[in-house]
Amino acid sequence: MLTKAEAFVLRKYDFTESSFIVHFFTREAGAIKLVAKGAKRQKSPFRGNIETMNLVEIEFVKKEGSDLGTLRQAELVSSAFSLFSDTESSKAAFAISEILCRAMVEGQAEEEIFRLVRASVSAMKEKAPPRWVFNYFLYWLLKLEGVLSSPGLCGKCGSADIPRAFQKEEGGWLCPKCHKEGGFLLGAESVNLIKEVFSKPPAGLSQKKGQTFPKELETMLYFNIYHLLGSDINTLRIGM
Ligand SMILES: [Zn+2]
Repeated sequence: MLTKAEAFVLRKYDFTESSFIVHFFTREAGAIKLVAKGAKRQKSPFRGNIETMNLVEIEFVKKEGSDLGTLRQAELVSSAFSLFSDTESSKAAFAISEILCRAMVEGQAEEEIFRLVRASVSAMKEKAPPRWVFNYFLYWLLKLEGVLSSPGLCGKCGSADIPRAFQKEEGGWLCPKCHKEGGFLLGAESVNLIKEVFSKPPAGLSQKKGQTFPKELETMLYFNIYHLLGSDINTLRIGM
């Protein structure tokens, strides 16, 4: 059966002399790996379209029970090419694709995460600072995956006091009264970021150009992503 989907290209791997296996993140059915036959040939209609973080409309066939389907068509909807002319945005794009490769499950639609990816990629194309967009992506991914809760209420006493720290084992966000020691202490700037800036679409991050992202919040996000994935983000080993 021929299936259509809207998808981000995550990665492609060598398969045969002329073919790639392409890892997609689809809006309709989560992750999927498909063979792109003949994609290495000069005249392949796939050429240029199956590149990292491109948004494409795909058509594919996949037999029930088989691991690998076959890509029939991949039409470009929106190219991510411009992201790779800049070191920071290419690192962020590769890191987003790596995280999705590792965290998204085959056959499980993640519509909200798909929209998050689309908004994050667009924001970077519109020249929002990549590091801010990437951390925005991490924050929302962790929320959608149920790792982070909303910082509205203290996880321990339930008061609506301003959160001061994030400590998963103590119930998540903690108010100054409940926070004793440990966890990730957050300054006013981080709290404001989470409550105000991160509650809006990432396009608004353009205003943060030239500003440094708060270190303590970044450390907290990386720590939780590490636990979600079970190890470091390889693409970020060289630092961002
Ligand atoms: Zn409390």
